Amino acid sequence: MNTTYLSGSGWATRPMTLEPALEGDLTCEIAVIGGGLGGMSAALRLAELGHDVVLVEADLCGWGASARNAGYVTGTVGSDPRILARFYPDRATGLFRFARNAVTHTEKLIADQDIDCGYRQTGIFSAAPTAARFRRVLATTKSGKRSTVAAAEQAGIPPAFHGGIHVHVGGVLNPAEFALGVRELVRGSSVRVFEQTPVHHVADNGDSVTITTPGGRIRAERAILTTNAFQNQLDIAPRRLSTPVWVTAVETEPVPPEALDAAGWTSRVPIVTTHLVMQSFRTTDRNTIVFSTRNLQTSRRPRADRMPEQSIVDDLVRGFRERFPTLGDVAPAQAWGGWIGMTPSNLAVAGQATPRVSYSLACNGHGLPQAPYLGTLLADFVGGEGMHDDLRTVWRESPRFAPGIVNPATVRLGWLADRLTDRLGR
Ligand SMILES: Cc1cc2nc3c(=O)[nH]c(=O)nc-3n(C[C@H](O)[C@H](O)[C@H](O)COP(=O)(O)OP(=O)(O)OC[C@H]3O[C@@H](n4cnc5c(N)ncnc54)[C@H](O)[C@@H]3O)c2cc1C
Repeated sequence: MNTTYLSGSGWATRPMTLEPALEGDLTCEIAVIGGGLGGMSAALRLAELGHDVVLVEADLCGWGASARNAGYVTGTVGSDPRILARFYPDRATGLFRFARNAVTHTEKLIADQDIDCGYRQTGIFSAAPTAARFRRVLATTKSGKRSTVAAAEQAGIPPAFHGGIHVHVGGVLNPAEFALGVRELVRGSSVRVFEQTPVHHVADNGDSVTITTPGGRIRAERAILTTNAFQNQLDIAPRRLSTPVWVTAVETEPVPPEALDAAGWTSRVPIVTTHLVMQSFRTTDRNTIVFSTRNLQTSRRPRADRMPEQSIVDDLVRGFRERFPTLGDVAPAQAWGGWIGMTPSNLAVAGQATPRVSYSLACNGHGLPQAPYLGTLLADFVGGEGMHDDLRTVWRESPRFAPGIVNPATVRLGWLADRLTDRLGR
């Protein structure tokens, strides 16, 4: 079977109808730039609060990373808890709370708005990549209310994953159905939505903000930037806020349930490995397996229409074959990818780029629940509802950021270190 390479999402068909592009000039109270889960959630919340909102999206709302991710609604923070406790001792508790509340927020959004996205509250299994690492987990971690330490067989996952921690928070969904569901909510709200409208320039004039697009200009009292990996293409965004990272996902052809059982994946619980760069493996409602991440790529100028590379797809397939040796005949049916913005701290951030322009970035591979939550919190703040404690936790007083450590050399080194771990563990 030949693998189909997609420039969009493999999770759903791209909608045919787009909202019109901006033509001419207009004014509004608050403009939201970037219509992913973060921007759409911010716009929705502002409209709910009674503000006059315009949402401007370069392509189609929700069709960026929000529709292309692996669908894990994860309650983990973007960094190792021990590193967080060491480097952010005063903020670690708040960050864990932020991540958990993001899951609750997203689950509530799905339930309250009846978004049909196949959400399964399975929790997520965090698997040690080697037997030695699992022994260390056994020696250092105890099962609790929110998590269970288990060997692979006991957890109903394939033996090549050794064992790890089943975190009983969150689960998996179809991300394109979720993002497009949120898009429908925005389209049904009072938000004025412009798609196919890339913002080229944002200027804070002191008494207003001017947003320049190819077809016209918007004059707003305030603006919010939620452009994720594309943040650094706007001059007004804080310098070095994020590094664009391309993440690839692969979906197999359908796998019979008996084959999954025979592979040892009887629980079907979604798995992420604890490599430096994790690998994720989950089943879908169409009986396929989606696996992702493992091999990242970076670029200073991300292109929205980028396609996955064959060498990266081949490497992801190798990773799949290593962990699922009995599924050697299962072919990769399609591959796609998307851009995420990695912040220097690997954590969600929000702040003011200028007095009238705020930004949020909740990515780092955890944005599926965090982007909607942070977008909503930022909307509350910009809309005059005050600052929630969870927003305060990720808030940056200064728009200055230290250089990030994610670059082509470090992602390559991370990949090599992970493969060495795999080899030594065999
Ligand atoms: C393959 C992959 C797997 C992932 N897996 C997971 C996972 O399992 N769980 C998880 O929590 N997270 C995961 N993520 C990350 C998650 O998808 C993102 O963190 C989340 O979608 C970010 O939402 P967002 O709204 O910030 O960004 P996006 O969805 O990227 O939205 C940003 C939007 O801004 C628009 N835009 C950019 N520039 C401009 C401009 N100048 N003018 C107008 N519009 C502009 C873009 O077109 C885009 O629609 C994954 C990501 C990828 C790519």
